[in-house]
Amino acid sequence: MPADQRYPVSTEDVASIVASAFAFGQRVKAIGGGHSFTAVAATDGVQLSLDQLARVVDVDAVHQRITVQAGMRLHRLNDVLADAGLAMPNLGDIDRQSIAGAIATATHGTGLALGNLATTVVGMELVDGHGHVVRCSIDDDPELLRVARVGLGALGIVTEVTLQCVPAFNLHVAETVEMLDDVLDDLPAQSAAVDHFELYWMPGSRRCQVKRNRRTDERAASQSRWGYVRDKWVGENLAFGAVCRVGRRFPRLAPRIARIVASAATERELVDRSDRAFCSPRMVRFVEMEYGIPVEHLADAVRRVRELFRNLPTPVLFPIEVRVSAADDIPLSTAFGRPSGWIAVHQYQGMPFEEYFAAVERIMDDYDGRPHWGKLHFQRAATLAPRYPRWDDFAAARARLDPDGTFANPYLERVLGAR
Ligand SMILES: Cc1cc2nc3c(=O)[nH]c(=O)nc-3n(C[C@H](O)[C@H](O)[C@H](O)COP(=O)(O)OP(=O)(O)OC[C@H]3O[C@@H](n4cnc5c(N)ncnc54)[C@H](O)[C@@H]3O)c2cc1C
Repeated sequence: MPADQRYPVSTEDVASIVASAFAFGQRVKAIGGGHSFTAVAATDGVQLSLDQLARVVDVDAVHQRITVQAGMRLHRLNDVLADAGLAMPNLGDIDRQSIAGAIATATHGTGLALGNLATTVVGMELVDGHGHVVRCSIDDDPELLRVARVGLGALGIVTEVTLQCVPAFNLHVAETVEMLDDVLDDLPAQSAAVDHFELYWMPGSRRCQVKRNRRTDERAASQSRWGYVRDKWVGENLAFGAVCRVGRRFPRLAPRIARIVASAATERELVDRSDRAFCSPRMVRFVEMEYGIPVEHLADAVRRVRELFRNLPTPVLFPIEVRVSAADDIPLSTAFGRPSGWIAVHQYQGMPFEEYFAAVERIMDDYDGRPHWGKLHFQRAATLAPRYPRWDDFAAARARLDPDGTFANPYLERVLGAR
């Protein structure tokens, strides 16, 4: 539990809170939407919510850039961008995160040619561990910017970000149900053939749901309101939540329930504004682990995870999600230096997950897997450092910006080492 909760309304406010916490030897942590599955944002010191620091600072239509305060939620950002004729080039599954929280953990969507959200950051303002305001951009201290884009909240409190956007676009969404083996046999070609490729596979099923989103000049022809409510709220949330509850109560029914969930997967096709096509409501509570591995091993790794279910004592009620993304040059980005394939495993809240996730993690270790910073895993600094060739760049930035560990917490000490 935080000792104190503060809601700063300006960068100066943040700087003075951090300076005074540092002076009194207290720790400080920013929280965004609180949507991480790990304790990456936890603190027993001062918790800063940036919900009051969520305004638009500047829209640069010529360069297609927007500067916003760091607490802005993605759904609000998406609306502001749409009004300005702009969009984020790619997004993840949900839009409830703050922009600072999303970039801090390298939140990503899917698309072999597209990097994670942090790769769009071209400027940043942050407050360091002594309460000083630091600015960096692609023109002014690009080296610091490169490191600070994925900061895990360990380098400073981010107060403003400038994002490189793209002209607003629509997506043609095609969701199909296919045989998992057929898709895996052809995965490199399948994932390269569309802008955004994603598959969901329910353990125990031979089929999977494939989502292929292509950029299009077609006009938006979104689903009817009823169709959206039926698919997204009733199907993916209310009904799915209800069967998960039954499976948790009667674990022996879980395999049958998993088959029912798999057979309920539907096919659909529509054209929608990009952010609306990328993001969905997610009401069913779950825990998640996600690993990035070199994309060329993706099909093999999925097959090995599938084999696990033959002997797993734990029933699993949630699908496995498979995505892809481009390489980048951010030292602690999970996609640093390699086009990545992503395997996310989930479990319904309240069900055992440790043995399942640990078994999946052992497979991912064979591929030098990098766990998502905001999702569950069992790694430590000693096992992670060799997987990040520019680990020392991050450590040097951390020593410079937070020499006294003002932003440290137990999770960061575990995954980054003590400060
Ligand atoms: C339902 C669901 C779906 C998800 N889908 C995806 C997905 O599709 N793709 C994906 O990659 N991830 C996904 N995630 C994970 C999620 O995007 C990340 O965990 C993200 O970090 C959450 O953002 P947040 O604003 O909630 O940040 P929080 O969880 O509140 O914080 C995350 C980190 O950011 C730091 N932070 C927050 N604000 C600041 C600030 N102003 N300055 C410095 N540090 C700050 C915190 O200290 C902490 O270290 C999903 C999570 C959920 C619950």
